[in-house]
Amino acid sequence: MEELPTQREDKRRRMEEEDEIKIIRSKNLELIRDLGSGPGYSLHAGRNRSRAVIVKVFHRGPTGRQQLDSTVALSNELMHPNVLRIGGISSPGSSLHFIVYENGHCKNAEGPLAAALKDDLHRSITLGFKMIAEISAGMNHLCMQGLSLVSMGADNFDILLDVDDRFLMSINPHRSDEIETTESEDAENTWTLFNALCRKTLTAANRVLHNEEINRDPAILDAVSPNSDSEDLAGSLSKFGPGSTPRTKNIQEEKVPSSVPPRREYVWRTLDRGQQSLAMVARRLALDLDLGISRLHRLTQMNGRNAHRCPGYVREEITLATTTLDSAVVAHDTPSPFEICSVCREMVGPHETFWCLCGDFEPGSQNTIKCQACKLWSHSDCVGNPQKEFICQLCWLLPSLNSRSDSNNVKKIGYLALFQMHMQKSDALVEWVYSDQHPFGHSYEAGVDRFADANKQRPVWSVQVLVDGEVYGRGHGHKKKVAKNEAAKQGLIRMDVAV
Ligand SMILES: [Zn+2]
Ligand SMILES: [Zn+2]
Ligand SMILES: [Zn+2]
Repeated sequence: MEELPTQREDKRRRMEEEDEIKIIRSKNLELIRDLGSGPGYSLHAGRNRSRAVIVKVFHRGPTGRQQLDSTVALSNELMHPNVLRIGGISSPGSSLHFIVYENGHCKNAEGPLAAALKDDLHRSITLGFKMIAEISAGMNHLCMQGLSLVSMGADNFDILLDVDDRFLMSINPHRSDEIETTESEDAENTWTLFNALCRKTLTAANRVLHNEEINRDPAILDAVSPNSDSEDLAGSLSKFGPGSTPRTKNIQEEKVPSSVPPRREYVWRTLDRGQQSLAMVARRLALDLDLGISRLHRLTQMNGRNAHRCPGYVREEITLATTTLDSAVVAHDTPSPFEICSVCREMVGPHETFWCLCGDFEPGSQNTIKCQACKLWSHSDCVGNPQKEFICQLCWLLPSLNSRSDSNNVKKIGYLALFQMHMQKSDALVEWVYSDQHPFGHSYEAGVDRFADANKQRPVWSVQVLVDGEVYGRGHGHKKKVAKNEAAKQGLIRMDVAV
């Protein structure tokens, strides 16, 4: 049945008086930009007549209208600087269902966060903390207003950022029924939801910038001491203030031929709620932001076992938590598996292998370069720091191995390298095992020569080389390399290679 225009006008006025929600006509609305979508709706930046607004458009049909009604029931009359405010809705008779929010020019939060990550460490940190402070403030307001967040998940929220760097949240209706909970369960659930929402927003920023799904565990800050000498976790702690990044500069000055900017990622650290409340987090971080967040740790983690050590690589994990003390910038000097290395632009393999003529087992802190033929990594210094494509000595010599005599090759590259080359040709499993038997019959632990310590002698290294589990050679020496070389010589003899 057609309604007359005057009847429609009456109905509109009646609704406005009852619910105090303005009816907005779709012909006055203009949608300008997509802000994303969620279950059953899409979010847009737009204009209502000449005013900038955010418009949530629900899918057509009766469920769309139901979703609109429950969203309005949930979030109408909320008034908080970090919560989107409803300015009006579509008329009940309209086939288009939408809510108009009054908050002006906004973007999806992940876009500006990703832009900050790309080239501004200080802004990445301050904007990240601002997000945490304002999401906790907004969420605390929802709790104070009696909204039950128990059955909600991070997907029930959209996080936007306006032109004045203010984070705004929009709420979407429940998908499950209300659950009866106690007050303390409520607080715990809300804390879990808050953490999930922070993590979701930061992960989205990483995804926008790196086009990868990144799920890193936060580094354990206490595990790294300034003078740690453990090989894969040597690092140093220092403080940094706004605009100054001393350690990064050091790393770059030490290593750099290239001027590749650090790869930055957000990492969220979930803390136990303990005595923290959302209101407290919001207040404390707002104060820290006012003071310029001058106490954020900076930590450098080196991984001397990782074969892939392109010169100048730095990954800064901006690890954020609800307190600045538990947050840190953690710098790594090697890329992780499946990451696209920001220096060589190649994807890092799951098991890249280090093999260098010098005989070291691990690259340590030196830069490495990958052989284009065999894909093994050598120390850049050991192979003369080639600037372009690099082919290792192994690959140069392999074709000539059969034509030239091996004794010539030994003179050229030594027993160890020749042995490695022969092994490279076969698929045999080669293991270097430091024996726990002292060469002179005294027992000592692998790598730690207690006998020598006790007698104030130089350490003696004792090594066996196993090929497919079988001992091919043994060697002893005051240096690892000497011991390995001797074992390699025995191995070559065992293989009937003329040396
Ligand atoms: Zn690389
Ligand atoms: Zn080397
Ligand atoms: Zn090679």
